Amino acid sequence: MQLDELLASVHADIEPFIGEGKVANYIPALAKIDPKKFGMAVVTVDGDVHMIGDATEAFSIQSISKVFTLTLALGRIGEGLWKRVGREPSGTPFNSIVQLENEHGIPRNPFINAGAIVVADTLLSGHQPKETLGEILSFIRYLTDDDSITIDAEVARSEQLTGFRNAALANYMLAFSNIHNPVEKTLGVYFHQCALSMNCVQLAKAGLFLANNGRLSRSGHGAVSAERARRINALMLTCGHYDASGDFAFRVGLPGKSGVGGGILAIAPGKAAIAVWSPGLNANGNSATGTRALESLAKRTGWSIFGAGRN
Ligand code: GLU
Repeated sequence: MQLDELLASVHADIEPFIGEGKVANYIPALAKIDPKKFGMAVVTVDGDVHMIGDATEAFSIQSISKVFTLTLALGRIGEGLWKRVGREPSGTPFNSIVQLENEHGIPRNPFINAGAIVVADTLLSGHQPKETLGEILSFIRYLTDDDSITIDAEVARSEQLTGFRNAALANYMLAFSNIHNPVEKTLGVYFHQCALSMNCVQLAKAGLFLANNGRLSRSGHGAVSAERARRINALMLTCGHYDASGDFAFRVGLPGKSGVGGGILAIAPGKAAIAVWSPGLNANGNSATGTRALESLAKRTGWSIFGAGRN
């Protein structure tokens, strides 16, 4: 079956569920998004683009940005990053503070909020927040070959006004000397990276290097080494969906990273990068219909890294 046909079948599978879940409302600017939106894009390692639904409508990528900042931080400080953040699944919600006390201010992994705030802090060192955000944006534009991608200042401001838990996490880690820059500057970088606005096609293109052994498909240039891409994929699989990472591996079987804007970036190594967007979230803060769509796609393509398992 051709991919376009297959995507139409995925769309039919999830149609009855569109609108399920709850749109994130703790960030006021996200609360007004229409829960009935649904889009999906698949970009293959050859660079072919396939899409369905609202795949060209921009949304707030939120925590999916953590994949790109992690990639940049590993490029900047390499393995030294692992002194400041762990690589184990947390089994706790995205904004949890409980483990930080027992683990002396070292977050479990770079994809929970605390870990991503440390990653933002490493990118900020030696720079002003504007420069760091410029670096993040340039990297995303380079990966996608698309200069139209921007940060939504309203979403960033909205989170800045209400991000008390993130402020608590950052201050708590500062108490353990695991934040090296002024807390408000580190948080400023974090809130703005989360406010990156992208559509499914752009997001799938941005993630393609992870499906392609670290290489950009259009030029063959390496964005990162094959080993680094493999390791980032491993972290996405084990930690990319907070306390539902196990369930996502069970149902979909692909490395993936979700965001509370309702997006998910999933990687089928050697095959394609897939981005899906549907704003209604399940109890763990992951897109409910988006997960269903990826489950259907993985089943129909046989792309799960754990084996085909097609019906
Ligand atoms: N900016 C959001 C927060 O820090 C990101 C959470 C997410 O997307 O999971 O609360």
